[in-house]
Amino acid sequence: MKEGVVLLIGRPNVGKSTFVNNVIGQKVAITSPKPQTTRSPIKALLNEERGNILFIDTPGIIGKAQDYLSKKINERTMNVLHEKVNIVIYMVDHTRRRDFEEGRVLGFVRQINKPKLLVINKIDLQEKSYLPQYKFLEDEFPDIYAISAITRKHFKPLLDKIFELLPEVSESEMGDDPIYPLINMDSYGFIAELIREKVFLKMGEEIPYTTTAIVDEITERTKKITYIKARILTTEDRYKRMIIGHDGHKIKELGSMSRKEIELAMDRKIFLDLTVETDPHWQEVYYK
Ligand code: GDP
Ligand code: MG
Repeated sequence: MKEGVVLLIGRPNVGKSTFVNNVIGQKVAITSPKPQTTRSPIKALLNEERGNILFIDTPGIIGKAQDYLSKKINERTMNVLHEKVNIVIYMVDHTRRRDFEEGRVLGFVRQINKPKLLVINKIDLQEKSYLPQYKFLEDEFPDIYAISAITRKHFKPLLDKIFELLPEVSESEMGDDPIYPLINMDSYGFIAELIREKVFLKMGEEIPYTTTAIVDEITERTKKITYIKARILTTEDRYKRMIIGHDGHKIKELGSMSRKEIELAMDRKIFLDLTVETDPHWQEVYYK
């Protein structure tokens, strides 16, 4: 049996989380069109007859790490690299121009002394392509896979290659640390991420990425209903007003969308008590 860790690296928005979700077939990392959706590394395990692959989905390397949150994200990504990693997937998005940020990511990838696979994502999109800008990478990366994380196109050759490269382990060695636990997120974190995803999907560009969600309480109220208290935290009153919306219609919509998805994930009826707060310092308080 094969077993090992695959680290995904790429600019924000190239499709790392979508790939992990679709390769595992279960929602583990949240995705949205807004960059920096993934704030801390998320681990997900693919378990099949050939063995186990632990995918670590990183928050990406941010071009200009000036603010507190960005610095923290980069720090966490660095920490992940020191963990046991067998293979690195460097993912690029050919529908986006190569820029200074890509250069930084590549510089980062070059520092890692592990087998590397170059994955060109979003090949389902052909109308706008900057593929020639990524051509030069062919010299450095002999193993290149063009995939679509959304349609699952060409997953098979990529997974075959990963299994080929992973070390052979005996049955008795399987499941040793750090492969387990399956997903390094508790239900508080998972629900908070679901709510945050809804905020970004529904609000779009006008809301800054420094907006977050915190789950304060999960209680079994009755045999049938679970009570969840959660807060959306944002840095300015004007964002709070936008999230609440006219007569509270936006927050109601966000609450109802989140509740439906939590019910699906937990397979239970949920009462979601969702409020919005302004807290310019939440990053320092909740994201240490
Ligand atoms: P991450 O920041 O690298 O984790 O990127 P996400 O997985 O969150 O994806 C960013 C955006 O790209 C989302 O809107 C995805 O739906 C979209 N996306 C990801 N993979 C593909 C793909 O293969 N094809 C297309 N058309 N869109 C994709
Ligand atoms: Mg992501």
